[in-house]
Amino acid sequence: MDARADADARPDPDDAGRAEVVRALGAARRIVCAGHLPLDGDGLGSALALAACLRDAGRDAVCLLGAEPPRNLRFLPGLDRALRMSDPLPFAPDLFVALDGSDLARFGPMADVARRAGRVAVIDHHVTNARFGDANFVSPAWAATGMMTDAVIRDLRLPFGRDAALCLYVALVTDTGRFSYSNTSPAAHEAAARYLALGVRPERVLRHVWRSQQPGRLALWSEGARRTRLAADGRLGWTVLTREMCERAGVDAEDVHDLVEIPMSLEGVEVAVLFRETTDGLHVSLRSDSDFDVAAFASARGGGGHRRAAGFSLSVPIGEAEERIPAELTREMARA
Ligand code: AMP
Ligand code: MN
Ligand code: MN
Repeated sequence: MDARADADARPDPDDAGRAEVVRALGAARRIVCAGHLPLDGDGLGSALALAACLRDAGRDAVCLLGAEPPRNLRFLPGLDRALRMSDPLPFAPDLFVALDGSDLARFGPMADVARRAGRVAVIDHHVTNARFGDANFVSPAWAATGMMTDAVIRDLRLPFGRDAALCLYVALVTDTGRFSYSNTSPAAHEAAARYLALGVRPERVLRHVWRSQQPGRLALWSEGARRTRLAADGRLGWTVLTREMCERAGVDAEDVHDLVEIPMSLEGVEVAVLFRETTDGLHVSLRSDSDFDVAAFASARGGGGHRRAAGFSLSVPIGEAEERIPAELTREMARA
């Protein structure tokens, strides 16, 4: 049995945190559930599922959106009942559940809501998580925050139907790279089996999440391929996504997160980088297909993530970042 399968079979070392979060959710009366920014399948799927299951059990709960969901996730059930930052909350919350984010800053303007609620419960699988809640169910052993949310929903014995299953399936399928990254454990497949048994249709998810691109995105992919560069004897690859590229393609930069797959798809590339211009500075996405720990590299620069997928922000022009970061990575990869 490989180490991962074995880990799945053992009791979760963070069971204490899990029980704490379950207790906090059991005791709270008015609950806000939120995924980190930018919204992604795991954070948003987890927040929607938890809020829906709590409501189905007759509890007061809402999913709060810190930003507009990306286009490809707008099919998720329950979004019609989710609230924007501009909407008044229907109640004064006494618990803020922070999903899939490693620190409160990842929740942007929702951090204020968390502070006002006075109590924060954290459910997250990032190795860099700062355990910033009053209750923290934090463990990098889990493939997706969605699976941890599922465990909490089961511990609370909340009703669990097809809509919640769809949200948690999307959390799982996006965070495991459609069941292909190294976090794809036996438990991940077991969870997926349960969701399919509840009626989730994987081909519909594929269509919505990956096969609903605007034509302009294809132009971005071809430019991203053209602008791909290599260093470290071909072990490091990177590409860029500028505001100008997005404008020309007519695509919202917030809807593009997967261009890092282009350098990662090249033979011999072990570490891939995407430099992406966003409305608030430059975002650097890192992926590793080797033992090189990109979470450590990112947290040394104020970001965070997982060993094999991490990110951080930079406030320098993209050209300068393209000079500096690959050189730093090349040095650290040589040392690793
Ligand atoms: P991304 O590169 O944005 O696709 O993110 C890869 C992983 O790193 C995800 O799990 C993110 O949640 C995490 N991550 C990205 N940027 C940051 C950041 N600034 N701080 C903490 N975690 C981050
Ligand atoms: Mn996430
Ligand atoms: Mn996640």
